Amino acid sequence: MTEIPYGRQDINQDDIDQVVAVLRSDFLTQGPMVPRFENAVATYCGVNYAIAVNSATSALHIACLSLGVGKGDLVWTSPISFVASANCALYCGATVDFVDIDPLTYNMSIGELEKKLVVAKKNGKLPKVVIPVHLCGQSCEMKDIHALSLKYGFRIIEDASHAIGGKYLSEPVGNCRYSDITVFSFHPVKIITTGEGGMAVTNYPDLARQMRLLRSHGISADPSAMHIRPENEIWNYQQIELGFNYRMTDLQAALGLSQIKRLDELVMRRHEIATLYNNSFSDLPIVLPHQHLDSYSSYHLYVVRLKSEMIKLTHKMIYELLRANGVMVNLHYIPIYRQPYYRSLDVCYDEFREAELYFSEAITLPLYSTLSRDAQLRIVDVFRNIFDK
Ligand SMILES: *Cc1c(COP(=O)(O)O)cnc(C)c1O
Repeated sequence: MTEIPYGRQDINQDDIDQVVAVLRSDFLTQGPMVPRFENAVATYCGVNYAIAVNSATSALHIACLSLGVGKGDLVWTSPISFVASANCALYCGATVDFVDIDPLTYNMSIGELEKKLVVAKKNGKLPKVVIPVHLCGQSCEMKDIHALSLKYGFRIIEDASHAIGGKYLSEPVGNCRYSDITVFSFHPVKIITTGEGGMAVTNYPDLARQMRLLRSHGISADPSAMHIRPENEIWNYQQIELGFNYRMTDLQAALGLSQIKRLDELVMRRHEIATLYNNSFSDLPIVLPHQHLDSYSSYHLYVVRLKSEMIKLTHKMIYELLRANGVMVNLHYIPIYRQPYYRSLDVCYDEFREAELYFSEAITLPLYSTLSRDAQLRIVDVFRNIFDK
């Protein structure tokens, strides 16, 4: 029995040829491919600046730093996300708190965000940055979050690790119309891949300049950025910040550049797969993925919720049964505040009712562009069988 993963990459001969061409070229890193890939992403998203890095985790880190997140600051994100959405703030010495999710979209709830802001304002504990996460590829209600940011004075980083190729109000996710910075991931399970890789995009030149510095040791070779004005000494570069080596290689950028050409096609294929699931499961005691009218999802993930009160088997039993039948379902995600590391921190979190319910009912079914029709029909069969019992 072959196992069907929940996600995987889609690599064609063109992708391979582009990477091989870089291997035969003069530069494996710091060559021409990284700026070309950055331009392609910026053009696709309709945003001014794009900074390629070695992961979305790195992008989130330098995004927080460029917005001045540091010790004593508060950063809020969604509890239903990958841990990287929260860890970035801890790297900067800040404190992380969470906002409960919307019961329909599972994205950060606008109502809960507003309630929490009102309380935080009273207590003098407003967040410096809020990081909404576009879960499964569906954009958060960014217009509302942006309006709250103006009222309460916080900055916004969109964690769009799931959402390249998606749209919000008919415009590409990543145009930063309602945020300061947007971050993408190119991990192989995501919509397009560079092996490992990420990108931060912004319309602000100062944030772009700062993130460029931070991704490469805080070093600049630009004479206008230099602090020491050389007269008789050689100063071909200067370190002006404490940065990192978060650079993307040219091998990765070549793969990304080749992949982004197919981005719309890959997202369309994901929609076809989601539609077949929707049509096959409409009579089952589960909640299908809700699509907000303002967003066009990139469908990174297909998450269903079990209507537990109508099902004899438990959440865990169903998860294990599916896996035992080679359908490698997953859970996106365990609430971050439940992770042992987060519990070990000296922070007292609210109760997150919707996140807890979600955690007890959600299951991610396989969804990726190369999923064959036969494999999908097998998944449908295995899944339906569970409810016939
Ligand atoms: C995958 C993911 C990340 C981290 O991406 P990497 O490129 O693997 O560092 C961050 N946030 C979310 C929501 C993700 O799904």
